[in-house]
Amino acid sequence: MSSVATAPADSLTTARQALKRFYGYDNFRPMQGDIIQSILGGHDTIVLMPTGGGKSVCFQIPAVVSQGVCVVVSPLIALMKDQVEALKANGIPAAYLNSSVTQTESQDVGRAALSGHLKLLYVSPEKLVGEGFLQFLKRVNISLFAIDEAHCISSWGHDFRPEYTQLGTLRQHFPSTPIIALTATADRLTQRDIRTQLNLHDPRVFLSSFDRPNINLLVRPGQDRLNGILDFIGRRPTEAGIIYCLSRKTCETVAQKLQQKGIKAGHYHAGMTPNQRGSVQEKFLQDDLQVIVATIAFGMGIDKSNVRWVIHYNLPKNIEGYYQEIGRAGRDGAPATALLFYSFADVMQMREMVTKDVPPRQAQLNQAKLERMQQFAEAASCRRRILLHYFSEDLGHDCGNCDICRNPPTTFDGILLAQKALSASVRTQQRVSINLLIDILRGMRNQAVLSHGYDQIKTYGAGQDLPYLDWYSYVHQMLNDGLFYIAYEEGYSLKITERGQQVLKGQLPVMLKKFQPTEKAEKQTRATKKAAAEAAAATGSPEARLFERLRQLRKTIADEQGMPPYVVFSDATLQEMAREQPTSRVAMLAVSGVGMKKFETYGEAFIKAIIQHGPPRPVPALDDTPAVPPFTDDEPLGPPAPRATAPKAPASERDVNGTEETTFQLHRQGLSPEQIAEQRGLTVSTIKSHLERGYAKGLDLRLQDFLSDSDLAEIAAARAQLGGAPGLRDLFDHLREKYDYFQLRLAGVKAQRQGR
Ligand code: ADP
Ligand code: ZN
Repeated sequence: MSSVATAPADSLTTARQALKRFYGYDNFRPMQGDIIQSILGGHDTIVLMPTGGGKSVCFQIPAVVSQGVCVVVSPLIALMKDQVEALKANGIPAAYLNSSVTQTESQDVGRAALSGHLKLLYVSPEKLVGEGFLQFLKRVNISLFAIDEAHCISSWGHDFRPEYTQLGTLRQHFPSTPIIALTATADRLTQRDIRTQLNLHDPRVFLSSFDRPNINLLVRPGQDRLNGILDFIGRRPTEAGIIYCLSRKTCETVAQKLQQKGIKAGHYHAGMTPNQRGSVQEKFLQDDLQVIVATIAFGMGIDKSNVRWVIHYNLPKNIEGYYQEIGRAGRDGAPATALLFYSFADVMQMREMVTKDVPPRQAQLNQAKLERMQQFAEAASCRRRILLHYFSEDLGHDCGNCDICRNPPTTFDGILLAQKALSASVRTQQRVSINLLIDILRGMRNQAVLSHGYDQIKTYGAGQDLPYLDWYSYVHQMLNDGLFYIAYEEGYSLKITERGQQVLKGQLPVMLKKFQPTEKAEKQTRATKKAAAEAAAATGSPEARLFERLRQLRKTIADEQGMPPYVVFSDATLQEMAREQPTSRVAMLAVSGVGMKKFETYGEAFIKAIIQHGPPRPVPALDDTPAVPPFTDDEPLGPPAPRATAPKAPASERDVNGTEETTFQLHRQGLSPEQIAEQRGLTVSTIKSHLERGYAKGLDLRLQDFLSDSDLAEIAAARAQLGGAPGLRDLFDHLREKYDYFQLRLAGVKAQRQGR
């Protein structure tokens, strides 16, 4: 880790001003400021920060405040496009070049780069190292190189990309341009590879905390996981999420089961054509699909900041993978959930997979990593501490935001047990692996023990009163507690940490937990129910209702502009708007995530929506139905509420009304929603929402296009049977999915108009 760079002190002030102006954020996150100063000081820099930690800002701000173009190397085409779009939405000139870009476009980009009009240029590694391109770059004024996902350079890692290894030549071609390498992988070997392979010159290394405190960590037993998932999603009807499965087949069947329950779900795996995958991904980004059921092939190219939850249907094969996958939830910093289903059968299946057809050394490594994953799943102590220990970090306290923290298991004073294990390790010069250590403690007389003379050491047999499995659990708890770590590159030997030394000297207490796998299941279910009840309670609050309204406005705008909703504003920003209810320019600009450009583009529309929503008011009885999605969101579905007192709509709000009117004009001309969508270049679901909303406001709709009289009668009968004001989802199920939500909503509006 490095001290502050030698950049002029006021460069940080300039950087902070740019952060506010372009991103709307008031402060740098921990480390961002130091990293930016290091780069502005001209130093090669390595940034190790978790997914969602805010790496992009670290090179984008230096790019913005420096002369010239920052060249960003990024491995995935989809990611480039999204990042460039997000930059432009913030008013920062950016472009990308990869195999998907046409020759003409590419020439335009080239000219913009030469003329100094670009601030950031994203390129794929293949593109970058092509001889012609390097020559071209030499004519460009380059401020710095940013190598994103830099762990791809390491063959140790799980995402090794051969193209990355050629990036080493950058240093020769551009000896004096600073290089910044960024990754969410923190392990020592990867770090070393990045430094050497990129030929970094005495780089400053910034290792940020890998904690993602906003992600609630849950593990549930693997029985009946499908119903568990339905239950989970049912409580989060509008929140986007990803379900990771091991096999393609499972992805498909799970997605299908969700669809049958009326959930907008799609599947994604490597067995699909690029077109199919692209279209599923696009719909997910656009919030047209709520759920993606995917193999781990999905996600690396996804920057979607409003993924609110991640479920692991199967046990991941190691903690790196797990952590990276759950890191895709809650990137905007707002609360998010990670749920892992765990059964021992999963471990067996996974063990087979990770050891089959690989060299013995690799198999051993894979298996050891899988065991750490298993220990995490079986843990009886704060799960976040375990994760962070894995990345050599100590939180210093329990997190309070995992299932174990909420329902602590029984513990006992484990100092004697721990000291036996630590001392046995010391007496083997810290050379033995877990299994051998346990054998020594239990006084076994096998080849491994005898050949090293471990039967002669003082702690030999000191733990023979405990069965193997108990020791296995306790040693893993010690690992999880940060008393030991495993040196993979030294035959998996257990090494004692600083903390371990303190325990050995009796300076730190150790609590161990009795290992009771079955009892735990019960408790966790209860914990989840409690969390769900809290979530349900929150849904009815005025703030939640305003959030929902803003979310819909965001969706409408995003569809019109053909960009993902989270690029318009993040969930975190919308939540702050819902809480603070800004109705002036100054108040709106004070919201985190509202920069100048976004204020100019969207500010008025959102202020207008907030004013129209009015001050917090009691929730009408109608809204209490926990419907999915509700009949009665806060757009009035009956005749339009009197709005005489509302101020005259500013331009962008008129746009929102205007777009509905355009849709209605086409509707009146006899066009179907599909035709209107085609003609207007919008999605069908947007057109349908225009029709619904317009109809609810009292516009003329040819209802018979969508519902016959007998349809209406059938739906009315079903509503009556369900007690008059049923949830949409209940109605949908009751009618055995005969009508889609659009039809059911229209029928609902009609019923309301007739005063039911
Ligand atoms: P990473 O690349 O490390 O996964 P990103 O750069 O995508 O993370 O940042 C994650 C989210 O955090 C983005 O929505 C980003 O706008 C936001 N963010 C970054 N820096 C800040 C900051 N200083 N204040 C508030 N939000 C920030
Ligand atoms: Zn915890």
